[in-house]
Amino acid sequence: MMNARIMEIDGAQGEGGGQVLRSSLALSVCSGTPLRMHGIRAGRRKPGLMRQHQTAVRLAAQICGATVEGDRLRSTTLEFVPGAPRAGDYHCAVGTAGSTMLVFQTVLWPLLVAEGRSRLVFEGGTHNPMAPPFDFIERSLLPVLRAMGAEIEVKLERAGFYPAGGGRLVVEVEGGPSLAPWRCLERSGDPEVRGRALLSNLPVDIGRRELQVVHQRLGWPRSRLGVERVSSDGPGNVVLLEVTHGAMTTVACSFGTKGVLAEDVSAHAVEQIERFLAANVPVGEHLADQLIIPLALAGGGSFRTVSPTLHTRTQAQIVQRWLPVTIEIIDEGNDAARVDVRPRSS
Ligand code: AMP
Repeated sequence: MMNARIMEIDGAQGEGGGQVLRSSLALSVCSGTPLRMHGIRAGRRKPGLMRQHQTAVRLAAQICGATVEGDRLRSTTLEFVPGAPRAGDYHCAVGTAGSTMLVFQTVLWPLLVAEGRSRLVFEGGTHNPMAPPFDFIERSLLPVLRAMGAEIEVKLERAGFYPAGGGRLVVEVEGGPSLAPWRCLERSGDPEVRGRALLSNLPVDIGRRELQVVHQRLGWPRSRLGVERVSSDGPGNVVLLEVTHGAMTTVACSFGTKGVLAEDVSAHAVEQIERFLAANVPVGEHLADQLIIPLALAGGGSFRTVSPTLHTRTQAQIVQRWLPVTIEIIDEGNDAARVDVRPRSS
């Protein structure tokens, strides 16, 4: 049933980016509470709704039959009155190379609470800077959600890189069963590693040079490193480095960019892995902010991670506005922190 209260959200708070909007949209649908938002992406160079955010608003609205005002491109205000989310078949084209992964993450939470099976086809970017690449969702986020009881399958049918886009992702979500709290404070077992350089319409030598840096700096054996050619509309290159401890995988990535040496592209991903390994925690910086919504929907959980990003702190701030949880972030020093999500005692 719809909640009569209206949640006022200032998009300029904290990180001031698209995450404040996407999380608010998802939790507006999950809680049945109308959203009124101003200052959308006020902290970004081009504020307001870009294509990816507009797509997320429209898909979320379609899934729950919401009434929406302010969903034109560059809009900095939005009114969103949700209905109940409905499982079903949805098709969503981001229209540019905008990240399909971020749109997927917006509607995933409503579809997990809606009773029934959903199938979604997304078209657009699947490997974008400043967003989780497909491999992060598949290898890092989804295993945790499955451990919490979620049934989600993803299939990458075609990669989409900025600026050409043209990627295609198929997702199946079984909604209904509630998520179970999740806890992960330590790493388990010896690490397994894997490094890949994905290339689309670019010379294979770029990938070889990238992986040579990984071999030299991290000492990862060549048998765990591989160049993969992928088919995509335009040129694209990403270095994906994975470290698995037991059930937890961390994925670091770095995108090939015109004018940047392959060695420097790879060094950026290597530095992320070096930092993660040194911190001796199970959860990486990006997974940390992305786990706050599911833990809050589950009513609890805790994990240890690297020093929290502004994204993580902002996410905690926003989620506590929407859901009856208390989120505590405890700095442990040495680039480590613990995040605790508990039901709020009234
Ligand atoms: P925003 O900048 O507000 O649009 O939010 C970006 C979202 O993408 C956050 O949830 C980040 O954690 C996530 N993100 C950015 N870069 C990566 C990455 N390399 N791997 C995984 N997630 C990422």
